[in-house]
Amino acid sequence: MQNMLILGTTNSGKLRELIPLLAPHGIACRSLEGQSNAVVVEETGTTFAENAALKATLQAQSLREWVLAEDSGLVVPALGGEPGIFSARFSGENASDSSNNKKLLERLSDIHGHQRAAHYSCHAALSNPDGTIVATASDMCSGIIGHTLSGSGGFGYDPLFIVPEYHQTFGELPAAVKSMISHRARAMRRMLPAILYHLEHHH
Ligand code: IMP
Repeated sequence: MQNMLILGTTNSGKLRELIPLLAPHGIACRSLEGQSNAVVVEETGTTFAENAALKATLQAQSLREWVLAEDSGLVVPALGGEPGIFSARFSGENASDSSNNKKLLERLSDIHGHQRAAHYSCHAALSNPDGTIVATASDMCSGIIGHTLSGSGGFGYDPLFIVPEYHQTFGELPAAVKSMISHRARAMRRMLPAILYHLEHHH
């Protein structure tokens, strides 16, 4: 059994989390780093699911490898679902985590208490080397958007994302906690049986 999988992302925060979620199950991953045939996939879909499938399919077709991709983001119902699929580019083309967090705080400045509820969503898609999606999974993680940045763990909106059960942000919580309860961890747990099945039977 050759459990080699390409992770269809260049986001270092995602890679730092995805690799330890898969490695204990014997799934060795490579990132797109150093893959000369990797393509830059434009996220033209209108849902997380569409974008995850696009990333997996297009990368797999170009690399002729099994590719696991995910599209994720922060959904704030009080902002009509924003930033949603635009989470990475919320504050414009040259957005950074810090400019995105600043914009989120500004947009929520008049919004208080339970209205600051939010969830992270993660949709994953597994493509075979032909570009056919053979499995998908998704899950989410609920939280509250804080009023100030707290902690330096995780990435993206984590310093603002308070996990109610812990009264701490994902920026403050140990990586081991995020790796058990995050949207990405939960989606990967759902995806795992399909990944193992396909890598075992079709390599
Ligand atoms: P994608 O690369 O298009 O899927 O966009 C992902 C974006 O959603 C990231 O750049 C972050 O802004 C946000 N995001 C997704 N997952 C997380 C997370 O676990 N923590 C913090 N932000 C996240």
